[in-house]
Amino acid sequence: LSGQDGEVGKAQRAAAGAGTEPTIFSRIIARTVPATILYEDEECLAFRDVAPQAPVHFLVIPKRPIPRLSCVEPQDAQLLGHLMVVAARTAKAEGLEDGYRLVINDGKHGAQSVYHLHLHVLGGRQMGWPPG
Ligand code: C5P
Repeated sequence: LSGQDGEVGKAQRAAAGAGTEPTIFSRIIARTVPATILYEDEECLAFRDVAPQAPVHFLVIPKRPIPRLSCVEPQDAQLLGHLMVVAARTAKAEGLEDGYRLVINDGKHGAQSVYHLHLHVLGGRQMGWPPG
């Protein structure tokens, strides 16, 4: 699906109230919403995406609810680096030795629908380029 009925429409509606409320990801961190968790430490959580777009599709999120990439500050650099290291290590644990893709959607034009910063890791099939 595309446009108003699909992911892009959902993202455009989400952008209207972006960044003001706790999201579903806060509830996944608190274990009040179930998720298949692949990795956890004090700073972050990795869990399978509930609507996978590839044979392997998981998200890496900081526990601190930063709404979106465009909100980050210079002092977040270490945390952002940590998220990428966890993404790479979890991708290896998932057997993605032929490679994978890392995606961060930011805001309306980036088709972000959950305003808690997250890295998508997608793999297990050949990706195309450019992305839509
Ligand atoms: O980058 P974007 O904000 O569009 O992605 C949000 C992602 O969160 C989607 O891929 C969606 O499937 C996923 N999600 C999830 N578990 C939920 C709610 C959303 O994995 N409970």
